[in-house]
Amino acid sequence: MYAPPGVWKGQKTLLHARLAAAWQPCVSERFPAFGHRREGHFRPQVTMARYVLKFGGTSVAGIDRIRHVAGLVKTLWDAGHELAVIVSAMSGETNKLVGWTRELSPLHDAREYDTIVSSGEQVTAGLLSVALDAIGVPARSWMGWQVPIKTDSMHGTARILSIDPAGIETRFAQQRQVAVVAGFQGVAPDNRIATLGRGGSDTSAVALAAALMAERCDIYTDVDGVYTTDPRIVPQARKLDRISYEEMLEMASLGAKVLQTRSVELAMVHNVRTQVLSSFEDRPGTLVCDEDEIVEKRLVSGIAYSRDEAKITLVKVADKPGVAAAIFGPLSDAGINVDMIVQNVSEDGQATDMTFTVSRSEYERAMQVIEKAAARIGYRKILSDTNVSKISVIGVGMRTHAGVAQTMFRALAEKGINIQVISTSEIKISVLVAAEYTELAVRALHTAYGLDAA
Ligand code: ASP
Ligand code: MG
Repeated sequence: MYAPPGVWKGQKTLLHARLAAAWQPCVSERFPAFGHRREGHFRPQVTMARYVLKFGGTSVAGIDRIRHVAGLVKTLWDAGHELAVIVSAMSGETNKLVGWTRELSPLHDAREYDTIVSSGEQVTAGLLSVALDAIGVPARSWMGWQVPIKTDSMHGTARILSIDPAGIETRFAQQRQVAVVAGFQGVAPDNRIATLGRGGSDTSAVALAAALMAERCDIYTDVDGVYTTDPRIVPQARKLDRISYEEMLEMASLGAKVLQTRSVELAMVHNVRTQVLSSFEDRPGTLVCDEDEIVEKRLVSGIAYSRDEAKITLVKVADKPGVAAAIFGPLSDAGINVDMIVQNVSEDGQATDMTFTVSRSEYERAMQVIEKAAARIGYRKILSDTNVSKISVIGVGMRTHAGVAQTMFRALAEKGINIQVISTSEIKISVLVAAEYTELAVRALHTAYGLDAA
């Protein structure tokens, strides 16, 4: 089963060595049954663990990259672990497939969209399996329907409903076979392929890790972890060793594009420890984990920003029951997500202004919906601004510490940045500011919370 050692040795890199050292044998405490299953394996000297690894588009972008990935997988396999590997399509591939589909017909059938765009992952799953086999690691590709990964019927943006890992586990036990699973896809109730929305391979990986009760889910990408903020804006941004599920969820939904938001939700619900790391560099990544696993307590873990914002104000709406429902009902029926909402008390008990934000890509539609419902809502005029950004500070520390918001307001005031809208949650404060101040605001806040690297 092993390739002649000499053949592979030449290709070993530091990263391989680190992986071998870092993956200490461990039996999951959460799932003690693993210990029993591992008895009788043909490498009884190692206590193995089970990992799900996910490789994004840039990590499998060509034959050389796929060979490199096979090498990483082999190192873990040699250490005795059970491995399921989720792959994305080669970078650029999904965009190309989406483009072709739209070019033929903007109003294409979503089932055919899924047939087409899921194919990129089929290619990389097959190629990685071949690459693994070629270096002596038994591997088999699995499409979503073969596992099966069952989804709901929302073709194009499907959600995973269930995964039956029994087939993969049998191959683990009988042949030490690596499962190479196509990300981004599953099978819908109509028995056709369904895709999980752009970036959905992250979700495939976390969901599979939950189903397999894996020790950890490692998401290999082209960045080496999660940063305190966007390093393109703040060069002193630091990589976080750990971040809690909740903070990561805020970061992801607020525009940090490193993980699909849905994957973080799943990780949080199922407590799947998830590491984000680079397949290009030999460096540990960022572990997304339970708050209790984080020793270094910080007040604020990160600053996120989003330019994809639009602000709409309805001037002089009646201050009476039913008005909010008349505004936000039609928006929600149209599938438009409203984010921040502010309504003031009216001085005279008669009329007040209502301000809310939507994503910029939904702005035109939101305006149409409001104008259509104008008679029922009743407002004097409508104001809007698409030149706004949302800046957020995120940290579980703010649950227990006062003054976090004050630091934010003071830092922005010192830079002369006007705050238009404020919203808060238990672990986040967001402000809406003029778009031209985005960078300045992010930098000022990064410094104000002491996040700049020494
Ligand atoms: N290939 C898909 C996309 O580009 C899924 C993924 O890579 O996560 O969106
Ligand atoms: Mg991705």
